[in-house]
Amino acid sequence: EKPSFKWRRVLLKVSGEALAGDQTQNIDPKITMAIAREVASVTRLGIEVAIVVGGGNIFRGASWAGSSGLDRSSADYIGMLATVMNAIFLQATMESIGIPTRVQTAFRMSEVAEPYIRRRAVRHLEKGRVVIFAAGTGNPFFTTDTAAALRSAEINAEVVLKATNVDGVYDDDPRCNPNARLLDTLTYQDVISKELTVMDLTAITLCQENNIPVVVFNLNKPGYISKAIRGESVGTFIGG
Ligand code: UDP
Repeated sequence: EKPSFKWRRVLLKVSGEALAGDQTQNIDPKITMAIAREVASVTRLGIEVAIVVGGGNIFRGASWAGSSGLDRSSADYIGMLATVMNAIFLQATMESIGIPTRVQTAFRMSEVAEPYIRRRAVRHLEKGRVVIFAAGTGNPFFTTDTAAALRSAEINAEVVLKATNVDGVYDDDPRCNPNARLLDTLTYQDVISKELTVMDLTAITLCQENNIPVVVFNLNKPGYISKAIRGESVGTFIGG
């Protein structure tokens, strides 16, 4: 009999910033390889893994909008394209160690990846393939955190696992306040009312409305991605 784990299907959100590691390049191949290895270890256990990848290591729409006449929507489309670059990099890394992986983009780029088709994504997952969702929601003015919340609801993922460069959610900014405390559990309402900057409001509200918990954890700690996916306690748990 198969051992049972807390989650059967998870959505892992990897921010662009996390992919950069401490490299001056945009992507640190050590990080993508670490992600691939850890994901491989859990797909072998039968846990289904979908990934939403960010693009902040390459381009963030909001910080470019306004400069040199770049309007927000155009800037955001560039940001969404950045996530596709990360997705293809991650896919190639995963496949190099034998994990069948499909990239699906929120807008069509058929020569490069499949278009997002919900039923097809679910089928891939059922067959044990990893699916990477790229290009966010396909809409400007949104974020890849919102894409993670949206896709998790669409594919019935049981949790959003948000991999970051920090250990979880603190009661204050740990970079400024050495006494800031790491919080074990939070409610969605805590995040909203205390304006904790763990996820944007659109994303956290969507998770709340669909009862999808969010786990925030540090992907730089060895083994933490696979622990998070297996449902062990890592970082901060946000739920009802
Ligand atoms: N973006 C967008 N719509 C989406 C998702 C992303 O317009 O649904 C753009 C936006 O400009 C954003 C950029 O893509 O700044 C990169 O995504 P994000 O900042 O969420 O990446 P992360 O912070 O996870 O690296």
